Amino acid sequence: MSSGEARYTVGAVSDTIVIIGGGPAGLFCALQAAGAGKKVIVFEKKAGPAKKLLIAGSGQCNITHDGEIAGFLSHYGDHGAFLRSALMNFTNRDLIAFFAERGLPMKAEPGGKVFPETRKSADVLAVLLSECAGRGVDIRSGEPVVAVERDREGFIVRTEREAVRADLLVIATGGASYPATGSTGDGYAFARSLGQPVTEVAPALTPVYVQDYPFADLAGISFENIGIAVYRDGKLVRRHTGDLLLTHTGLSGPGILDLSRSILAGDTLRVTFLPEAKAETVRKRVLDAVAAGGSRQAKTALCDLALPERFVRRLLDLAGVEPGASCAHLKKNARTALATFVAEFPFTVARLGGFAEAMATRGGVALTGVNQKTMASKVVPNLYFVGEVLDIDGDTGGYNLQAAFSTAALAARHIAGLRASR
Ligand SMILES: Cc1cc2nc3c(=O)[nH]c(=O)nc-3n(C[C@H](O)[C@H](O)[C@H](O)COP(=O)(O)OP(=O)(O)OC[C@H]3O[C@@H](n4cnc5c(N)ncnc54)[C@H](O)[C@@H]3O)c2cc1C
Repeated sequence: MSSGEARYTVGAVSDTIVIIGGGPAGLFCALQAAGAGKKVIVFEKKAGPAKKLLIAGSGQCNITHDGEIAGFLSHYGDHGAFLRSALMNFTNRDLIAFFAERGLPMKAEPGGKVFPETRKSADVLAVLLSECAGRGVDIRSGEPVVAVERDREGFIVRTEREAVRADLLVIATGGASYPATGSTGDGYAFARSLGQPVTEVAPALTPVYVQDYPFADLAGISFENIGIAVYRDGKLVRRHTGDLLLTHTGLSGPGILDLSRSILAGDTLRVTFLPEAKAETVRKRVLDAVAAGGSRQAKTALCDLALPERFVRRLLDLAGVEPGASCAHLKKNARTALATFVAEFPFTVARLGGFAEAMATRGGVALTGVNQKTMASKVVPNLYFVGEVLDIDGDTGGYNLQAAFSTAALAARHIAGLRASR
């Protein structure tokens, strides 16, 4: 049915909270804000809620990260400070306890990623839905919101089927990545239509496509804890350490995904393929290994540095060295080329992955227009923003879901306080 044909019935329920979006942020805000005498309606566009949560962490749900919550602040690019109140109010420990108390214990991996012990996103969603049901939250799935308008101190929320009057509106529509899950950026349009500032959006946590990429047939080889530096117009923009994966078309893996918010098409990425702090140290290690190699094959000397053999063979090829050449037979320019390839391999970025493959969205509802202590709009009374619709994107490792739950909990706490004081 088109919105033109819709028959609207403007509900007259007072004290109604409408939440647009049934992802983790929307559901958590709903269940925390619900309670005696409060009517909470969640409109979800897809046939069922939280489609993105169901595929998070490849369906295993890396829900948060281990360690002190203060350490989270550096994992949201330059926007971590905005999340301080939300993260302190509802920490990773609180999130873990919430699920454990409801029969879903969590476990941290050695690297710090936290998953449900069952390794099933569906179990996380089941807890959220059961809590929503227990607290009387009315989840209306398959009912996309098409428009929102101000109405006195409240709002009219229109779907294709109905129009509902809300005293308080929470926008939890997520970002614009993986649009098949329902997150198609609608919340930005709703925010703008209400006068809320929104920044430009772009894909984040996304792979990098490389010009003249020489490793297409080595897709699947990965390197742990290595250095990646971003250069723009010859100047260093950012340096990062993380895991890297060679793909058919370029680079991926957590180190690249986390760095992608700082990368633009045309940038040069210089990758240090050994886990050393400095490229210069690695360059010297390669030169020393070849100098000491004598009659040993150059391939063996490089593999002994803990580089994968197929990768080493490709580097020799790129340096114009015969596969069986001995170290002693390498010319100076070949030695220099090999040392540079291992220490600072230059990749020219053709483009970044688009929204269809990005795991998060950079940009969104401008943080300048939102009170970081409440998640309430500074522009429109009784309007709140929670989750990824905000201009927040976290690193891989559970930081995005923690932000979704923490912003939702903070908004709900403020909403509950408002209502208690009425
Ligand atoms: C493949 C993938 C894997 C990921 N893995 C992880 C991970 O392991 N750990 C982690 O921390 N993060 C992960 N993320 C990121 C994380 O899933 C998101 O940051 C998180 O889901 C954001 O929660 P949200 O509730 O704000 O938004 P979303 O989960 O995007 O939910 C928004 C909801 O709003 C609904 N909606 C949108 N528009 C409308 C409308 N007009 N009317 C009604 N409903 C609407 C959508 O259908 C959707 O259900 C992953 C992301 C992807 C794409």
